[in-house]
Amino acid sequence: MLEINEIFGPTIQGEGKLVGTPSVFIRFGKCNFNCIGFNVEYETPSGIKKCGCDTFYAVDREFKDSWTNYKSYEEIVNKVDNLTSQNLSPYKMDIVITGGEPLLYWNKVEFQKLLEHYVIQGHQVTIETNASLNLNFSHEYQKEIIFSMSVKLSNSLESLKKRVNYETLNKILNNTENSYLKFVIDKNLLAVAKDEIRTILENIPKVEVYLMPLGDTAQSINENCEEVIQMAIDYGYKYCDRLHIRVWDNKRGV
Ligand code: SF4
Repeated sequence: MLEINEIFGPTIQGEGKLVGTPSVFIRFGKCNFNCIGFNVEYETPSGIKKCGCDTFYAVDREFKDSWTNYKSYEEIVNKVDNLTSQNLSPYKMDIVITGGEPLLYWNKVEFQKLLEHYVIQGHQVTIETNASLNLNFSHEYQKEIIFSMSVKLSNSLESLKKRVNYETLNKILNNTENSYLKFVIDKNLLAVAKDEIRTILENIPKVEVYLMPLGDTAQSINENCEEVIQMAIDYGYKYCDRLHIRVWDNKRGV
């Protein structure tokens, strides 16, 4: 069973290496983290006020009733086909597998069939992950996937032991060509972030690093972005914005 929070698009990828690329998003429910440090306030369907990340509705199981259970990967493919049936592009639409934490489903047969289907059909598949879970590469198609690895820093308030999995980071970077790291940076914690990123990079192969400002609204991104841009310039990382938030703020499904 694959628990899907939402399937939406075509839209553009709003962040990371492939920003601006027309894409369909398949957002899986469940996460192994809560990231309460990201400080997004929300209310659950039963009226409890909580704090988490900007995709709390795909993380907090209180929203589970709004998720859809898919028994087979074909049902997901059909849904994506319906969304893209009017698309005029001669190119295959990028498929973004996101969450929550989609690697919670890595060992599920139907999840692997979904990945294999899109890779074999010539789509670029990106998995957006916190890269904290163990995984193995046992098929060639898995090596065609781009892993957008948003490794969490201490500002997430998750424990170091949980959030940095060097074995997984090394496996992904040794098995795939274009995977990259993406860090969410809070301008008030720049010094800590610099040290934490440096330590991570010392323990993995050379990789492209993107810095993204913390924020779930255009205003909060604006408040963080100048310092994050300067940090990227100073350390040779790449700045990456959150285009979808600038354009649509925190509206869902676009
Ligand atoms: S790992 Fe990502 S999806 Fe999960 S709680 Fe943290 S920010 Fe949200």
